[in-house]
Amino acid sequence: MDFELPEDLVAFRDVTRDFAAERIAPHAREWDANKWIPEDVVAEAGRIGLLGVTTPEQYGGAGQSMLAMSVIIEEIARCDGSFALLVEAHNGLCLQHLNLAASEAQKTKYLPDLASGKMIGAWCLSEPDCGTDAEALTTRAEKTSAGWVLNGQKLWVTSGKRAGLYLVIARTKAERGSRTISAFIVERSAKGIDVGEPEDKMGMRGTDTVPVSFDNCEIPEENLVGELHHGYVDALKVLDEGRFSVGAISVGLARGCLEEAVKYAAERKSFGKPLIKHQAIQFMLADMETEIEAARILVRQAACAHDAGRPDKERCCMAKLFASEMASRVGWKAIQILGGAGYTKDFCVERLLRDNKLCEIGEGTSEVQRMLIAREQFERRSA
Ligand SMILES: Cc1cc2nc3c(=O)[nH]c(=O)nc-3n(C[C@H](O)[C@H](O)[C@H](O)COP(=O)(O)OP(=O)(O)OC[C@H]3O[C@@H](n4cnc5c(N)ncnc54)[C@H](O)[C@@H]3O)c2cc1C
Repeated sequence: MDFELPEDLVAFRDVTRDFAAERIAPHAREWDANKWIPEDVVAEAGRIGLLGVTTPEQYGGAGQSMLAMSVIIEEIARCDGSFALLVEAHNGLCLQHLNLAASEAQKTKYLPDLASGKMIGAWCLSEPDCGTDAEALTTRAEKTSAGWVLNGQKLWVTSGKRAGLYLVIARTKAERGSRTISAFIVERSAKGIDVGEPEDKMGMRGTDTVPVSFDNCEIPEENLVGELHHGYVDALKVLDEGRFSVGAISVGLARGCLEEAVKYAAERKSFGKPLIKHQAIQFMLADMETEIEAARILVRQAACAHDAGRPDKERCCMAKLFASEMASRVGWKAIQILGGAGYTKDFCVERLLRDNKLCEIGEGTSEVQRMLIAREQFERRSA
């Protein structure tokens, strides 16, 4: 792993950094309150390549690496977790699943609109009765002479309200098992799809998170993505190989907290000197900086392993686990440094901390990451 970013990635990072500073940061508090990020800003993100980061250029994407994905997500999350989650779920779940398993015809039909941001994609795995135990899902897809009919309900669908395309994971065989589930493209215009009201969440409030129901929802035969009964295996691959990008959200959120804390501590005085001159504050800031750097290295190491053709499930889990829990520690410290001011919405730290809690839950909870790391470790060490 080269610790220097390549020149073209530095340029992409800087464009993203400017976009985040000018178009996201000034409005993040308002979006958090209104529970919505306006369409025009999302469209702008599409125009600068943020909505098709790793999608090949031949389908209208930016054709960048996973390292690039981790870098740009950190830049966005530094200003707003919600925008970063929108970008991460669209790229890292929906498009990544299509990049992995879709047919040439499906890629040609859907990827250009998705990668340019003309259409947002949502990824639907979780259900009311199963999140961690996703293999127990009950949404069914039944074959008919005309195609497929879907019935069931999905929950927690990120960007489900604004999405034009849903990648839906549904049961195609009655019995439980990883080879009994398939993936399907469902267009927003399909008959029988119902998109519910957004959840009133603790954080990540700018992204809409909705239930999506299917009531005899008919879709054409060619909307099956990947092999029949192989959709769950593909979904796990998407999660296992990509969840470091949730770690990148946490690195960005923690960095946003640290930067705000340093700025405040340099300006605010107590006992005749700036807070930053008190050793207790310095020690907190030093720990925050060190932990963020450690998490960033884990995230980028996992991304680089993927780019080198050696996706590493254990490293992805470690990156997500460490980064998400690190950002919570950093967020609380930032609030402590700001004192009473940190406890108000006048400063971004309380929002970034609220946003981060999702990173300890989504795409596999911290408990799941520990279970997977322990399993991989056991296999590796007992081999
Ligand atoms: C804001 C938000 C956005 C989301 N976006 C999406 C999305 O776009 N698409 C999508 O498909 N899903 C999405 N999710 C769902 C998310 O992936 C799930 O919430 C997550 O996987 C946990 O599932 P659950 O909420 O059902 O918790 P549960 O599975 O009910 O778990 C509850 C608790 O029990 C623990 N637990 C469960 N099983 C075990 C075990 N075997 N051992 C030890 N502990 C265990 C968990 O770690 C957790 O602490 C989103 C969720 C949120 C909150």
